[in-house]
Amino acid sequence: MGKVIAIANQKGGVGKTTTAVNLGACLAVAGRSVLIIDMDPQSNATSGLGYSDVDVSESTYPIIIDESDIEERIKATGVDDLFVVPASRDLTGAEVELVSVIGREFKLKQAIEKIRDRYDFILVDCPPSLGLLTINSLVAADSVLIPIQCEYYALEGIVSLMRTIDLIKRNLNRDLKLEGILLTMYDSRTNLSQQVVDEVKRYFGVKVYETIIPRNVRLSEAPSFGKPIIMYDILSKGAEAYLNLAEEVMYGG
Ligand code: ATP
Ligand code: MG
Repeated sequence: MGKVIAIANQKGGVGKTTTAVNLGACLAVAGRSVLIIDMDPQSNATSGLGYSDVDVSESTYPIIIDESDIEERIKATGVDDLFVVPASRDLTGAEVELVSVIGREFKLKQAIEKIRDRYDFILVDCPPSLGLLTINSLVAADSVLIPIQCEYYALEGIVSLMRTIDLIKRNLNRDLKLEGILLTMYDSRTNLSQQVVDEVKRYFGVKVYETIIPRNVRLSEAPSFGKPIIMYDILSKGAEAYLNLAEEVMYGG
């Protein structure tokens, strides 16, 4: 049975999508079978894996809104054993349309049930909000991985994220676990980055991954080529870091 990990933080631009794409690719080259589900209308994971302008009919939208079959919407990527269910812009509408739907929080969970035994890992890339798309992702997930950027106000919003996770545990998904906290965009030249690392470790303790993702320009270039970092520049610091993270996710810290 595959493990479903939601990659969530309602704060924008903290490295959720970069982590979904690159952790997914690194798990796949380590021999695991991986599916990435793009739950963000921005569709950055989709384009980062080489698909642009996916038609709405081929995307996560009808899966969530019409209970359309997820299986038909799974696409191969440039990496063996790495697959993606793409998003499209129209997913923005789902956030509103779901509000009046019965069982609105369980749509993704229902869809995943049918296919989860075929993958070792299913990674869900969440949008930067705590709306119904993120809630669907957290309800479908076994665990949540939270990327935190090594920047000013790193922990801003973490309290409301943890409160949301707690509410979901109490009401919708009792077994939801905290997979781990991932520090991203670490800049070794600044004291600030180290201060954030210390602060986050004080707050989350052993839940923080030993692997810290450095700020690395190759990581920011790779998506414009529609490639994960290991297909774009395997020798980069970014590739090394995500390969280490994959080890931690597979075998524990
Ligand atoms: P959103 O909330 O909008 O979905 P996100 O949390 O998914 O954003 P990303 O899209 O992964 O964040 O990253 C934000 C930007 O920072 C992107 O341009 C990405 O390429 C860049 N980036 C992410 N991680 C790194 C890194 N370690 N080094 C350099 N650039 C990075
Ligand atoms: Mg994103």
